[in-house]
Amino acid sequence: MAIKIILADSAGVCFGVENAVSTAESELEKGTKVYSYGPLIHNPQSIEKLEENGLEVIDKIENKKGKIIIRAHGITTSEESELNSYNQNVIDMTCPIVKRLQFAIRALTDDGYYVVIVGDKNHPEIIGAKSYGNQNLIIIKSVDELNKIDKNINKIGIVAQTTIPFENFWDVVDKLKKDKNIDLKVIDTLCDDIHNKQLEAKEIAKDVDVMIVIGGKNSSNTKEIAKLCREINKSTYQVETFEQLLKLKVDFANKTVGISAGASTPPWIIKETIDKLMMVN
Ligand code: SF4
Repeated sequence: MAIKIILADSAGVCFGVENAVSTAESELEKGTKVYSYGPLIHNPQSIEKLEENGLEVIDKIENKKGKIIIRAHGITTSEESELNSYNQNVIDMTCPIVKRLQFAIRALTDDGYYVVIVGDKNHPEIIGAKSYGNQNLIIIKSVDELNKIDKNINKIGIVAQTTIPFENFWDVVDKLKKDKNIDLKVIDTLCDDIHNKQLEAKEIAKDVDVMIVIGGKNSSNTKEIAKLCREINKSTYQVETFEQLLKLKVDFANKTVGISAGASTPPWIIKETIDKLMMVN
């Protein structure tokens, strides 16, 4: 019944989320009243722990006494101004890589480029980032949506949601490069941490019987890793906890099990899942 486990080195929380969470924890330890504007981390179990320690997640901007944390995904420019107008204690934990995307959109807009963002228009990072541009901007999911761009536009700047698969972005860039009438400026705003997670998880998924991707159901980068693994290995499961995994009634006897985890999955959940999985024997 022995289980062999292969854990991805890149599995789990990234520096952007880690910085935001540890900042909240250290403020809470000092006894500060801490709010996060939107869920600080896309992981319900971590949010639960932070809330037990006093964090309050708010979804509208109000005049609060205490400190308000801007999460790693960032927010819109108008939300930021509104927050600052009410509260002098705003801690901006927008990830530097997301900031790079925001500033890239602003710079392209200032230089007169029509901005193409490859990503998900409903993701909080993109809702925030697009506010750095103006109406000369479009958000597309993939190369299939390039036909939405007006044919008369010939000065295009292109950026990506930080966490999308690299191929999605570069496919769009390659297609645009073929049109010699377009003055194209490419700014690579992709996150290397996510790229490494995707590459490593795909490599592991090839060689194992079962692939488990641990992370919040509301974490888009976790869902993306699971999707990429599932394309390679049909026995891929995304779970938030070991208890959810148990309910799936997967047969682990004598199996090699690969494990990866999204950028908002804390180490304690990965460890707990592995420890309990080893006990299944
Ligand atoms: S996934 Fe990358 S861009 Fe997003 S918060 Fe983490 S380090 Fe920053």
